[in-house]
Amino acid sequence: IYAVTGASGQLGRLAVLELLSRGVPGSDVVAVVRTPGKAADLAGRGVQVREADYSRPSSLVVALADVDRLLLVSSSEPDRRVIHHTNVIEGARSTGTSRIVYTSMLNADATTNPLAEEHQDTERALRGAGIPFTLLRNGWYTENYTGQLDEYLRRGEILGAAGSGRISAATRRDYARAAVTALLQDEPGNRSYELGGPAFDLSELARVISEVTSTAVVYRDLSVGEYKSSLRQAGLDQGSAEFVAALDVSIAHGDLATDSQDLARLLGRPATPLAEVVRTATQRTT
Ligand code: NDP
Repeated sequence: IYAVTGASGQLGRLAVLELLSRGVPGSDVVAVVRTPGKAADLAGRGVQVREADYSRPSSLVVALADVDRLLLVSSSEPDRRVIHHTNVIEGARSTGTSRIVYTSMLNADATTNPLAEEHQDTERALRGAGIPFTLLRNGWYTENYTGQLDEYLRRGEILGAAGSGRISAATRRDYARAAVTALLQDEPGNRSYELGGPAFDLSELARVISEVTSTAVVYRDLSVGEYKSSLRQAGLDQGSAEFVAALDVSIAHGDLATDSQDLARLLGRPATPLAEVVRTATQRTT
């Protein structure tokens, strides 16, 4: 039995669907969700939908009862992630889960990214738990950018403070497919994958968007202070503006880049090219 947490979310849902498309019967797939109504379509496809909340350990123990391999999709609640993940790991240990595959962060042990600490702590908890584990150190989602395509096109520019920092982003679909490969394959011991697609910087992103959409978009690199001000003007509160700016500082530092070919290896093909991701996003927004 394979279980996926966060299965009502974007990545988890894609992983569940990928398991089905690889021929795993729905009866062998457990979608762990806190709101079963959000996974009604998965239930309709024969998947076992089980209710559990990362913050309620007893619900996790019940949901993971007969699970052999678990894809732990990291929680989306900032500052609560470590306790959430520890609860899942403890639940998996108590029910005899044989492997946990965890969505960590690219370069987790050598990064200045403000999101990294919770992933580092979770990796530590996994090491301490004694269950074989696989770390999927995922880079940025390309959708973090293509989700803002309308705004880029409207403004004619991408604003940021990432300099020429390279970003080895990939789509959620590619990360989900790689995660399922890692979940299905038999491996001894612990594994760690650094996952990301071909690197681009924000100037290159602007160039690709311009080419694909035939609309001029440029990248305007701002100082960190200027970028924070522009985020504040766009309506973000001070804390959020600081956080978003810190992400770009981390990118400028090279934290979100990798030359690893692990993603292509797990996919069995190259990651989806940036131009194709942008083209798909354009079709969705028009
Ligand atoms: P989503 O926000 O789409 O999904 C997050 C999932 O976590 C949802 O299913 C949500 O449930 C579930 N969840 C949150 N809190 C709890 C809880 N207390 N108990 C049970 N389930 C909970 O995120 P994505 O699928 O896009 O990304 C997956 C994870 O990757 C994120 O949670 C985050 O940790 C990380 N991430 C990575 C990014 C990157 O660029 N690499 C960018 C953004 C996030 P519900 O549907 O009920 O809300």
